[in-house]
Amino acid sequence: MICSSCQANNPDQAKFCMQCGAAQASTCPPCSTELPPEARFCFGCGHQIGEASTPPAVASTPVAPPEPEPITESV
Ligand SMILES: [Zn+2]
Ligand SMILES: [Zn+2]
Repeated sequence: MICSSCQANNPDQAKFCMQCGAAQASTCPPCSTELPPEARFCFGCGHQIGEASTPPAVASTPVAPPEPEPITESV
């Protein structure tokens, strides 16, 4: 892929330009949507881009902490 900043020819899988260090746009493998460098998920199909990172917040029911058992003082 050609760097949009300096026109250097970088490998297709390059995330950053070898010549100027500019972030390269990535392409979604399943749907070939061009994504901005900062995209972590494809806006076209929802495919996760790049390394496995924190998934989107999953709706989880807040768990209430267990109530402490009453302490029976037998002294
Ligand atoms: Zn460059
Ligand atoms: Zn996609």
